[in-house]
Amino acid sequence: MIQIRRNISLARRMHYRIGGKARYFFEPQNALDIEAAVRWAFDRDIPFLVLGAGTNMLFSENGYEGLIIQLAKKEIQSEPGGIRISAGTMMADAVGFFTLRGLRDLSWAGGLPGTVGGAVFGNAGCFGGEMKDVIIEVASIAHDRASGTVEPRLRSSADCMFAYRESVFKRIGGEIITSVLMRATPGNEAAMRAEVQNHIEYRQRFQPIEYPCAGSTFKNIPLESVSEKVRSEFADVVKVDPVPVIPVAAILDRLGLKGKRIGGAEISAKHPNFFINRNKATFSDIIDSIALAKMMALERYGIVLEEEIRIVR
Ligand SMILES: Cc1cc2nc3c(=O)[nH]c(=O)nc-3n(C[C@H](O)[C@H](O)[C@H](O)COP(=O)(O)OP(=O)(O)OC[C@H]3O[C@@H](n4cnc5c(N)ncnc54)[C@H](O)[C@@H]3O)c2cc1C
Repeated sequence: MIQIRRNISLARRMHYRIGGKARYFFEPQNALDIEAAVRWAFDRDIPFLVLGAGTNMLFSENGYEGLIIQLAKKEIQSEPGGIRISAGTMMADAVGFFTLRGLRDLSWAGGLPGTVGGAVFGNAGCFGGEMKDVIIEVASIAHDRASGTVEPRLRSSADCMFAYRESVFKRIGGEIITSVLMRATPGNEAAMRAEVQNHIEYRQRFQPIEYPCAGSTFKNIPLESVSEKVRSEFADVVKVDPVPVIPVAAILDRLGLKGKRIGGAEISAKHPNFFINRNKATFSDIIDSIALAKMMALERYGIVLEEEIRIVR
């Protein structure tokens, strides 16, 4: 019998520190618990949603009228062929494990917030690395409400349809990631420590990590998707991520939005693609800031900004 809790505050669990209550809340310890929770929701015709560490999501003050499943199992184990990591493990712990053992596959992820499951879901990436580069296979619980099916599934990396901040889990849905098998490549331990530390320090210098937020609000803009005029206007800031892109931070900066405040929200003066909860921001403060940025980018440059964060109304 699983222990479902009721009326649990989401604001306390979200990096943004915004959000109402989850009507139902459950922390599974293993895959069987997850299956039982999904069946519980199916039987009662209740929607459900998986929460990692809440570093890429925004809930409204209305909360969630369904079941929030937040994976509690945090486990990292060596096995033949790689390192098995449960989806609820923090990326920081995975990075630490790899670094301590002289494995170089996760050095790019120094300072990346959130869980391993969340990082797989969005194919998180930074400093030239992406989750897709380190994953051998992903285990999940696949579920289908129409047929009532709830069953384990194993996908090879190629099966995961990884692309820029995309995966089959995000695009198609219907799966709760339970664990991943990651590559384990020996490297130079001192060099890896230095790389991880550099990335953490870079974030401290250039990202407003001292405020609640959800990371980059919008996906960067592929260079090939914009007009010749816009391409030449932003030629000096193009970066490879992993294809040539115009950073949204530069677009918002040139729109004069850097430091713009609406209520308690701020389009960060330190990094304008981070929309921070500066002072008791409400859901509407963040949403209005997002709407303003989208409208101005479209009007001035014909660019359609697409949210990277997941907004649950
Ligand atoms: C300061 C800061 C810096 C950041 N820098 C980066 C960066 O450099 N690169 C980058 O890519 N991102 C960055 N992010 C965004 C965020 O950290 C990543 O997207 C992270 O991978 C999200 O993990 P999470 O566990 O917090 O996911 P959550 O925010 O909890 O969830 C995100 C999505 O993943 C789904 N999900 C979570 N776990 C599972 C699971 N087990 N199975 C199925 N679905 C699941 C959720 O349902 C939701 O749709 C940053 C965020 C912050 C706050």
